Amino acid sequence: STTPIRRALLSVSDKTGLVELGRALAERGVELLSTGGSARALRDAGLAVRDVAEVTGFPEMMDGRVKTLHPMVHGGLLALRDDAGHLDAMKEHGIGAIDLLVVNLYPFEETVARGADYDTCVENIDIGGPAMIRAAAKNHRFVTTIVDVEDYDALLAEMAAHDGATTLEFRQGLAMTAYARTAAYDAAVSGWMAGRRGDAAPRRRAAAGTLAQQLRYGENPHQRAAFYTDGSARPGVATARQAQGKDLSYNNINDTDAAFELACEFTPEDGPACVIVKHANPCGAARADTLCAAYRAAYDCDRTSAFGGIVALNRPLDAETAEEITGIFTEVVIAPGADEQALSIFAKKKNLRLLLTDGMADPRAAARLIRQVSGGYLWQDKDNGHVGQGDLKVVTRRAPSEREMADLLFAWKVAKHVKSNAIVYARDGATVGVGAGQMSRVDSCRIAARKARDMAETLGLPAPLTEGSVVASDAFFPFADGLLAAAEAGARAVIQPGGSMRDDEVIKAADEAGLAMVFTGMRHFRH
Ligand code: 5GP
Repeated sequence: STTPIRRALLSVSDKTGLVELGRALAERGVELLSTGGSARALRDAGLAVRDVAEVTGFPEMMDGRVKTLHPMVHGGLLALRDDAGHLDAMKEHGIGAIDLLVVNLYPFEETVARGADYDTCVENIDIGGPAMIRAAAKNHRFVTTIVDVEDYDALLAEMAAHDGATTLEFRQGLAMTAYARTAAYDAAVSGWMAGRRGDAAPRRRAAAGTLAQQLRYGENPHQRAAFYTDGSARPGVATARQAQGKDLSYNNINDTDAAFELACEFTPEDGPACVIVKHANPCGAARADTLCAAYRAAYDCDRTSAFGGIVALNRPLDAETAEEITGIFTEVVIAPGADEQALSIFAKKKNLRLLLTDGMADPRAAARLIRQVSGGYLWQDKDNGHVGQGDLKVVTRRAPSEREMADLLFAWKVAKHVKSNAIVYARDGATVGVGAGQMSRVDSCRIAARKARDMAETLGLPAPLTEGSVVASDAFFPFADGLLAAAEAGARAVIQPGGSMRDDEVIKAADEAGLAMVFTGMRHFRH
């Protein structure tokens, strides 16, 4: 059933579009009620407005903490228009019905994001706004609730289509949005407090996000999907600007995130670096003197898999690298920037998606990860663990050479971003074989070595590049078999967490094979 809008309450922090909306409503003969700053903005535009303070008979007080928290407001929002008792109460207390509520909340999320101090964040927790939103949304049988500036146009269109009224269908959709907004708002407050206190697992934990993009489909075409952002300012796939190309798909977003997060491990001291990801695993990663050389080396790790991959760079895209990348089919390129020449080279490949992040993210920054399981979700800190040369313990008779050490640390960074069981062979700052996602570690060792042999054939090399390489294992070798498989493939040095019951056996096997091995004391499972 349609309900005409005769009286509206507008109370907004974000004043965008407020005057236009107020004017359109006034032109339809809607009476406008409003709070301090919102009322002032409407009045300045020449519109007739009644202050809520006049309606309640109370001034706004306590720095605006108490403005609309009053029965004259909440009665007007909550009263059932078809209930004799409610109508009597309205008459008895002189409460006028409020048919439309337009509220957007104090910018709590933005205040936290700009790094404001504790008290400022607390003061930006809106109380009256959510109370009114929840009241109006509860009474959606009669009341229309708007919580987003983006919905103003839809409201006016709805009113135009129904002679100044709205349909129940419309009001119910808005009520659903309204509760999502207050839930997300309180989740942001709770999340901020949990972060401040360092509480890992409070009794209740809420997650929230804002719709960034409806996706055409999910992992597969029969699955619906959407992309939500959590307000984080971290450079990455969620905050990047798309310079060209088709819309990102669900899989693109997931894979691009994996690629960029690994690229971020390579800091300026590492020099130019490139990562190529397929199905959320790196199929090549390299650092070199130039970005183009890094791309080529990453590509040469596994050319077959790189086809249709996602490329992430830790430096702005230059012309030489852009030219090289366009040589094969690539889904997405993500980089901190791109120069003019590179942009014009990419412009010729209309479908190639280019994302620019305007910076790299700090791989050691704290963050939280959520994964859903049937009936609930798992929560954990992001794996921001870092191992430097000083953290390593040499456990074999032979210590790694300087060159091996550099490759070990490189391979370790990559292994952290490969799905377990992860085995990464590297040589001269480039991966030469990646074994990902196997249920047994020895299989990952063998698969990575086999891929290196295949590439040697493709490249016409006399021997696979695992010959003289180093190998990283994301978790300890439970038996010597994996390590022996790596030695057989030609690896000369090993990096792994250690900590197995059979470490002694594994160290003995390494010594017998003449390998150098270091323990990190830190594991990087990734499932
Ligand atoms: P204005 O700029 O109009 O003075 O204030 C608008 C803001 O005040 C809106 O974000 C609205 O949600 C918020 N607000 C409205 N009533 C109350 C209240 O009683 N207490 C608090 N803390 N905020 C309110």
